[in-house]
Amino acid sequence: MAKRNVYFFGGGKAEGKAAMKNLLGGKGANLAEMSSLGIPVPAGFTITTELCTEYYKNKGKLPKALTAEVNKALARVEKAMGKKYGDPADPLLVSVRSGARQSMPGMMDTVLNLGLCSKTLPGLIAKAGDARFAYDAYRRLIMMYADVVMEKAAGIEPKDGRGVREKLEHAMEAMKKRKGVELDTELDAKDLKRLCEEFKKIVKKTIGKEFPDDAEAQLWGGIKAVFQSWNGRRAIAYRRIEGIPGDWGTAVNVQSMVFGNLGETSATGVAFTRNPATGEDKFYGEWLVNAQGEDVVAGTRTPRPLNKATKTADTKHLKSLQEQWPTLYRQLAGIRNKLEQHYKDMQDIEFTIEDRTLYMLQTRVGKRTGAAAIRMAVNMAETGLIDKATAIMRVKPEQLDELLHPMLDPAGQKKATLVATGLPAGPGGGVGQVVLTADDAESWAKKGKKVILVRNETSPEDVHGMHAAEAILTAKGGMTSHAALVARGWGKCCIVGCGALHIDVAAKKVTVGDKVIKEGDWMSLNGTAGRVYAGQVGVLPAEPRKNKWYKKLMTWADAARQINVRANAERPEDAAQAVAFGAEGIGLTRTEHMFFEPERIVHMRVMILAEDETARRKAVMKLLPYQKQDFIGIFKAMAGKPVTIRLLDPPLHEFVGGLDNKQIAQLAKKIGVSAARIKARIAQLHELNPMLGHRGCRLGIAYPEITEMQARAILEAAAELTKKGVKVQPEIMVPLVGTKNELANQEAIIRSVGDEVEKQYKVKLNYLVGTMIEIPRAALTADEIAEVAEFFSFGTNDLTQMGFGFSRDDVGGFLPYYLAEEILPVDPFQVLDQEGIGQLVEMGVKKGRSTRPTLKVGICGEHGGEPSSVMFCHRVGMDYVSCSPFRLPVARFAAAQAAIQWPRKAKKKAAGKKK
Ligand code: ADP
Ligand code: MG
Ligand code: MG
Repeated sequence: MAKRNVYFFGGGKAEGKAAMKNLLGGKGANLAEMSSLGIPVPAGFTITTELCTEYYKNKGKLPKALTAEVNKALARVEKAMGKKYGDPADPLLVSVRSGARQSMPGMMDTVLNLGLCSKTLPGLIAKAGDARFAYDAYRRLIMMYADVVMEKAAGIEPKDGRGVREKLEHAMEAMKKRKGVELDTELDAKDLKRLCEEFKKIVKKTIGKEFPDDAEAQLWGGIKAVFQSWNGRRAIAYRRIEGIPGDWGTAVNVQSMVFGNLGETSATGVAFTRNPATGEDKFYGEWLVNAQGEDVVAGTRTPRPLNKATKTADTKHLKSLQEQWPTLYRQLAGIRNKLEQHYKDMQDIEFTIEDRTLYMLQTRVGKRTGAAAIRMAVNMAETGLIDKATAIMRVKPEQLDELLHPMLDPAGQKKATLVATGLPAGPGGGVGQVVLTADDAESWAKKGKKVILVRNETSPEDVHGMHAAEAILTAKGGMTSHAALVARGWGKCCIVGCGALHIDVAAKKVTVGDKVIKEGDWMSLNGTAGRVYAGQVGVLPAEPRKNKWYKKLMTWADAARQINVRANAERPEDAAQAVAFGAEGIGLTRTEHMFFEPERIVHMRVMILAEDETARRKAVMKLLPYQKQDFIGIFKAMAGKPVTIRLLDPPLHEFVGGLDNKQIAQLAKKIGVSAARIKARIAQLHELNPMLGHRGCRLGIAYPEITEMQARAILEAAAELTKKGVKVQPEIMVPLVGTKNELANQEAIIRSVGDEVEKQYKVKLNYLVGTMIEIPRAALTADEIAEVAEFFSFGTNDLTQMGFGFSRDDVGGFLPYYLAEEILPVDPFQVLDQEGIGQLVEMGVKKGRSTRPTLKVGICGEHGGEPSSVMFCHRVGMDYVSCSPFRLPVARFAAAQAAIQWPRKAKKKAAGKKK
């Protein structure tokens, strides 16, 4: 049997279901599911995403067999609705709607009211008994069809302001002006009829083709246009940002129209089953009487609040649906509960009321802020709707970052001049310079500027600029407008519906009352309160620890994860901070950072420039007391948790590079040699490839006294604290090892210092000696290295550098091309390259444990705080990940998600120790 291309839904039945999202797209699958659940959904059918792919394979041709399938499904729809498509007496009208697997808000285009033409118009007028309504539907059809089907899908790309939609909108504005009215709803039947005639002329003139006066032609034009829009410019741009593959395709939904614009007893609205900004368990939405389709989100009229919970200071005088039609509201609230119980997640829904009858037009999992995601997940788990593991999986690790989002400093805010207020669409604070177009936002941001994109309203054309902006501000639109939806999805600060703004794009300025804000002026937004300030207000870091839902979720995550998390920290205060963020140890203390303080660097330089061992030893031992104090501080802050200390790593010339003559003269005096000799020595230290030069363990091998001093500082600090009864767990890490013998050489020095210190202090020390695995050869010979090493810590920054042969310091020159050309999907220094470098890591772990089963393994590269890399570390069997303190919450959370998806056979975390 031939493959089926069309799936019917309606009248309490459906051939598809929610699980068929890949085939039917999100919209189609959920319309089918709602229909099966007995929720009132206008009948329709879905053409599959597979057909979209086929359409592109066939160079834009639809297969012959589709015609019969569509006609059959249409006949079923006609039967369910009791009307016929194209029937002059009582025409059925339909919408043609796109729907990809994953929702792409506003990316794809919908056409409403198909089937209206000169043959069917009189029938619709007669049946509805309302000419105004019929012409309203007609003018909408002409506008959408001309824009979506005749222009966009045909690949016509008019310049800003010259598109057919703008021209038609212009004509409508002109008509309203002539009539002296403000709202579309104030135009009467005669006006709209005239407008339709005018519209058709404009279409002909702009596009050079007649608007099709034939129901059949409209239907197929619409279907094709949806497929065509999958590869439209906006859709491609959005897919790139969201990482949606191009071969998924979109489905087409053809659905009977229900009319929210059938006068004062009709309405349309959008809602979220819970508050998408805060996560509060309250039904939340907006609606408009006598409106159709996207009127609510388009921002042409101010939408009304759905209920009491949705009212704000600005909208409290408007009558809610709950107040106006309590029975319908109750029915809708019942559907809300049914949907949440069924889908077990917050839903974003569309509804239309046609002459006091409620219809559902869409449901999908709603986008939400990070804060809302956390609160909903925790609430749903606590009420038993979902389990804890599901709650953890519901929140994206990056969404935690939003909670860690900066806010405007309240003190600075009090002093700042309030310019205007709007709707708080995306929380957090945003400070930047005003730009008025998306292209400017992008190009300014590329130059490193922070910008605030100010628009009347945003459209999918603006997505690239919205992405580049710190924050988004629009004059029009509600909480569910395009700007609001997109910004929330990205966790971006956003204020919409800021009606006081008068934006003049041509003159590059915004006027608010008598105030003028020019392009480039600074502005500060409080997206949580919807307040716009002039100038630069300071920002405060967010305080996730004050959020009880966040705290609870993190408790669950910590209980679920099977690996430990550590922080990279060098100073006692950083260590304390790390503990506050949940660090269970320190995975990397870079000792060289301790040498740059003025009183220390002198000794360092003396040591480096020393000409023989005696002089070097004398200088290096001057550093001992400083180092010892550093370690005492860190050990104390970590209170018995393991602390990995890396021995000196960078090329020595980093300490003597850039010295001026005066400094050289001072040094010469201190050491007692001539300035010329110092200069010669510095020249001698110069290397062509310092990153591959005399650094890492190569330093300790050439100058053993450095290793000796550092080992002594660490172990004496440990001994002193141990004597005082303070628990310490030092892990001494030798950097840049590529062979077993390098490590053995350094280990011998460390152990002999250890023995001396134990004797001297009369204590038994508890410490480990291990190495970083950051040279490919070390990963390849990890079994041999593990004969000496008691632990491995993967230094994936260097491992990536050497594995790819990309200089970390010079990657900026070529990486942008790699990313633009998609030669690499992402920057491998940010996201661990699991496919390539990951093999070295995996092999290193396996080989290491083959000779030493108890080998402790972790990661201390930048990747240790990046969610996908953390999950990889869990999978290859590491004991811990280590990252900068601020990334710890994300790392803990990603580790929990990894444990839920790829559970280990118990034990490991306990072995890695917990508490
Ligand atoms: P999007 O994916 O951009 O949300 P939709 O296909 O959901 O596009 O449609 C856009 C608007 O048109 C929505 O408000 C939707 O509710 C409305 N709409 C779509 N089909 C119908 C229909 N058959 N009857 C009434 N309104 C419809
Ligand atoms: Mg749309
Ligand atoms: Mg929709």
